[in-house]
Amino acid sequence: MSAKSKIQWTQRPGTVGRTWNPCRGCSLVSEGCTNCYAMYAAHRMENNQTLKGAYSGLTRMTEHGPVWTGGIRLVHEALEQPYHWKEPSTVFVNSMSDLFHEGVPFHFISRVLEVITKTPQHTYLVLTKRAQRMREALGPRGTGFYAAEGPVPCPQPNLWLGVSVENAQAAEMRVGWLQRSPAAVRFLSVEPLLEAVDLDAHLLEDINWVIVGGESGPRSRPCNVEWIRSVVAQAQAASIPIFVKQLGAKVEVVYRSPEDNAWDHPVFPPKDRKGGDPDEWPEDLRIRE
Ligand code: SF4
Repeated sequence: MSAKSKIQWTQRPGTVGRTWNPCRGCSLVSEGCTNCYAMYAAHRMENNQTLKGAYSGLTRMTEHGPVWTGGIRLVHEALEQPYHWKEPSTVFVNSMSDLFHEGVPFHFISRVLEVITKTPQHTYLVLTKRAQRMREALGPRGTGFYAAEGPVPCPQPNLWLGVSVENAQAAEMRVGWLQRSPAAVRFLSVEPLLEAVDLDAHLLEDINWVIVGGESGPRSRPCNVEWIRSVVAQAQAASIPIFVKQLGAKVEVVYRSPEDNAWDHPVFPPKDRKGGDPDEWPEDLRIRE
């Protein structure tokens, strides 16, 4: 299944934003996964007759709600889709999975990369929480991956690679692998931002783009405006384009209460349910580069 995408960062001038899902299914790997939107969406679609079982068995219900079973479905028929898109597209790869999940065999990852190589009119954004496996699948920087006709050099100009950075631990664990992976553009998706993150200068080396945002959805965790402001400042100090996607569904601010002179941490629900309307934000955060 492929679909037009409304994700803000797939909206680039002269291209159509899309999602492309050659795999389905995943498993929780870190704090950022707790409220995985794909997991809830897969569960909602499980019994949808028109999808003919596309999502059956990928999630199970628990007392805390649906969770991934860890099963991965490879969607071989989806591999052909990019050849048929007439307009140049900006494509978010695997919005319903993680391309570098341990259950996706390297030979299948190579087939996905081969499609990317053969459709240079499209730009592909691959975002992962399995940065080490991404690095292993792509080969040492500059060597490339293996396709049906033989080795393919990397980086391909239309392949953008990114890692999720929801907290400091994720930054330490993932960014180094991204820096050593071959991509035309390397990006950090600093979302859902769950705490203040110090992107030390060495963590921003060779990074070309930073996206930042708070969590949305009914179970979202608060995101402090100062955490977002700090990421913006760190990216700007390193001259890296920054895209503020949303403040999240629970916007926390910190101020010193004039009554008792103590720090207060009130949480506000924004009018836009994702906190995605820049008109509601402090002016200095209205940046989408
Ligand atoms: S890696 Fe991505 S798709 Fe997989 S559980 Fe985590 S958030 Fe969801």
